[in-house]
Amino acid sequence: MYITIVGAECAPVAKVGGLGDAVHGLSRELAARGNDVEVILPKYDCLRRDRIEDLHGFADGLAVPFYGQRLSCDIECGYVDGIRCFFVNPHSDHEFFNRGVIYGEADDPGRFAFFSRAVLEFLLKTGKQPDIIHCHDWHTALVPVLQWEIYEALGLAHPRVCHTLHNLVHQGVAGDYVLRSAGLDSARLMTSDRLRDWANPQAVNLLKGAIVYSSLVTTVSPRYAWEILNTDQGMGLQETLQAHRHKLRGVINGIDEDAWNPQTDSHITESFGPDSLPGKARNKQALRRRLGLDEVLKPVVAVVTRLERQKGVELLRHAIYFALEKGCQMVLLGAVSDPEIEELFLDVKRQTDGSADCHLELGYDDELAHQIFAGADILVVPSVYEPCGLTQMIAMKYGVVPVARRVGGLADTVFDANYSDKAFEEVNGFLFDDYTSEGLESALGRAIRLWYEYPEYFRQLRLNGMYADNSWAGPAQQYLEIFESIKA
Ligand code: ADP
Repeated sequence: MYITIVGAECAPVAKVGGLGDAVHGLSRELAARGNDVEVILPKYDCLRRDRIEDLHGFADGLAVPFYGQRLSCDIECGYVDGIRCFFVNPHSDHEFFNRGVIYGEADDPGRFAFFSRAVLEFLLKTGKQPDIIHCHDWHTALVPVLQWEIYEALGLAHPRVCHTLHNLVHQGVAGDYVLRSAGLDSARLMTSDRLRDWANPQAVNLLKGAIVYSSLVTTVSPRYAWEILNTDQGMGLQETLQAHRHKLRGVINGIDEDAWNPQTDSHITESFGPDSLPGKARNKQALRRRLGLDEVLKPVVAVVTRLERQKGVELLRHAIYFALEKGCQMVLLGAVSDPEIEELFLDVKRQTDGSADCHLELGYDDELAHQIFAGADILVVPSVYEPCGLTQMIAMKYGVVPVARRVGGLADTVFDANYSDKAFEEVNGFLFDDYTSEGLESALGRAIRLWYEYPEYFRQLRLNGMYADNSWAGPAQQYLEIFESIKA
């Protein structure tokens, strides 16, 4: 199949978060299965150029309609980990992608409306007719709208659009000038069953447009698909999703096993796997030495996260005290940007300073993250909501038993040791439902007790997680089946 993936991010060249990893992991797996795959990205000035091979001009002088004018644009081509990538490089005073950042500019809706229009203009003018255009999040939400409203009649009749929702918190809400800027008829499109925002009738909701206009809509786990349809996790888009529910699917993301594999990980002290678990004990020892923790007979409970409301900061804080009280060691690695949340954890840090059982590291540190997964026994993931979540899957791969809240992708990947209807070989962690300290304690308490009282059973849980397949193989196969079902 010929698949064109369009997104605002692709790791490692343009990555802010999980979206970048998903575009990268999925495109590689689809290509490895013999499909013709390409990725189209903006040519940000902050791209990691060192990770692009053979960057060269591909198409010059593309004239992209924008605000009634035509903006001149070049397309460059290069390879990222073997994936063919096209980079959209406009030449205009707007300097859309020369801002030193990927997002966070006041004119983001306009920047990405331009990008969407440029992508379709590029496909049309170069005669490309992919079977599938796979778009991601609100940034590329105008692609299916433009395709249906304008480009199909111009000759781009073949491609079908699949849109993936990674997180409904960001919907791309803006003034309706954004539609006009991209050459769309705003009067026609600003209706409640098309792109008019659900909260503000003067505003356009780009993500809503993607749901209405795409042939198929996916989100990043089956459970999150259910939650956005049936609960306030739909963030106001429930009605639109309900109207289009027949085309909504949930496909879990995979983890990148080149980056996350304890048998080949260059960041850790000793490689290990399900057949060589003693290697994990030496990583635990190394982690303790690095962080100044005592070498005693205690489980290491870990947190690796962005410290944001979504991640359940109140319960993370509670987990630290609870784990210490129950005879564990605690390691937290948390990237924090909100000053209020930072103060919350600086306070814990002051209280536990000098403790031989507790270490908090506030920041983003990829190497330390690898070493924590390699050395820890239990990972706590008490998210308020979690579309997919990767840390619970990475943890399992490294023989760490996750304790997670039963939401989104966590509910689809963690199977409770005591209360699941899965076979014994498939249970791999502990779950709780209520977003309360009692809820957290019920699951974390069970995990800690098992570690102390039934070490053999705990070991079996580790192994079950390590043997689970959370790679991109299964998800890529599901995407292919979805693409096949909508292809012309
Ligand atoms: P999200 O994308 O919402 O942050 P995920 O669980 O989907 O959460 O993915 C998080 C990824 O980022 C994982 O690979 C995890 O190891 C990494 N990560 C999260 N926080 C940190 C941190 N403070 N330092 C290093 N890596 C982190």
